[in-house]
Amino acid sequence: MDDLALAGYLERSKDRILTTLSDWLRIPSISADPAHVGDVANSAEFCAGLLRDAGFHEVEIIPANVSGENGAGLAPAVYGEWLGAGDDAPTVLVYGHHDVQPVDPLDEWTSPPFEPVVVDGLLLARGSCDDKGQVLMQAEAVRGLLGEMGALPVNLKFLIEGEEEVGSPHFEDLLERERERLATDVIVVSDTTMVAADIPSTTLSMRGLVCFDVALRTAKSDLHSGLWAVPNAALLAARVAASLHDGLGRVTLPGFYDRVRELSEEETRSLGAVPFEEAEFCSQAGVSYLEGEAGRTPYERTGTRPTAEVTGLHAGYGGPGMKTIVPATANIKVAIRLVPDQGPEEIAASFRTWLAAHIPEGAEVTVTPLGGVAPLLTPLDHPAVQTLCGAIERVWGKKPLFTRSGGSGPEEALGRVLGAPVIFLGVGLPGDNFHAPNERLELDQLWRGVLAAGELLLDLGTLKVGQ
Ligand SMILES: [Zn+2]
Repeated sequence: MDDLALAGYLERSKDRILTTLSDWLRIPSISADPAHVGDVANSAEFCAGLLRDAGFHEVEIIPANVSGENGAGLAPAVYGEWLGAGDDAPTVLVYGHHDVQPVDPLDEWTSPPFEPVVVDGLLLARGSCDDKGQVLMQAEAVRGLLGEMGALPVNLKFLIEGEEEVGSPHFEDLLERERERLATDVIVVSDTTMVAADIPSTTLSMRGLVCFDVALRTAKSDLHSGLWAVPNAALLAARVAASLHDGLGRVTLPGFYDRVRELSEEETRSLGAVPFEEAEFCSQAGVSYLEGEAGRTPYERTGTRPTAEVTGLHAGYGGPGMKTIVPATANIKVAIRLVPDQGPEEIAASFRTWLAAHIPEGAEVTVTPLGGVAPLLTPLDHPAVQTLCGAIERVWGKKPLFTRSGGSGPEEALGRVLGAPVIFLGVGLPGDNFHAPNERLELDQLWRGVLAAGELLLDLGTLKVGQ
């Protein structure tokens, strides 16, 4: 590892990096809580300082929302640029976020969430891994390279969001507004995990998401269950929800799987090499058996296959004791995760058609769509992915495996609005307690991440612009 560009810099800088990160982690930048608006703003200022210290030419705090609605610009993003490589060099945009999740339940933390401590090589604090540690990892790579070499082979832009943990409500608007300034050839996201510290991996995709709220009504009001033989909204909702899957766990919407792309042999092999312990997986989830599409592994079910989940089912009386009624109304909430090349509009239309076929004439149904995100995929043979693999292999000493994230995030909007491939250098680990009590960052992963981020920036210098 000594031949890596930042090896010497890192050895000299570890203490300072840890002190800096700890200072940042003491700022409780919880974007979900209005009481912490000032802290999110302070966190943005702190982040801007990091970028200035790293040697960025321009650093600016960008309000998330300029329209004035919903608490305008209260959770600002931070933008930094270093454009010294010239017009012929590729441009790289690094994405991360500086806001953090709420911390409750507080009594489950072994140390206060905003008082960072190092225990057995783990840095414990809210935001240590998600995502301040990973943002600082990227900023330190820049600081190291500019300090050692005076220049970078790429033009570099950082965009560090302040609303990621509340679903990035203004992020796409921000991207549209700043599209010219953010123009890039490749996007590097550092907000993900690896399989294990000794099994490096990179994410190739995130799933899309379409959600629906379905309101059903079968009568004007609830009726006496002993006196009326009439349609029951609770029973109808249960039938509709149960019809969403067939006996093999496949989603029954018409044409649902038509556009689902099968994996290449190489990706199938790589995914098959990711270790999986069913008993441990079950115990982590607190379940005794697994469900999902028949004939697919749990990783395939969450990463490479589309799913439909009933996330809420409400009807009738839920209070103490008994109320003898035939319920008149019911509500179902459904979240559908999409994979390439499924489109949110097409699947939404399919859902409406499917629902209409399951509602008897005379029952009223109101469907409210709640957001739509397309799936994101960067193919494993993309030159930017291959470049990333080279950087990871040099640092971890092994070729990375390819995984797919089951979640959905702002990365899709980044790739789509800026028209550039998205690659993932994430150093979190599955046990890092993202969003949970006792969030932590393994310091060895942070150090490897700084080295890998440096190697990656150097290697991306040779990427052909426009690929
Ligand atoms: Zn995050």
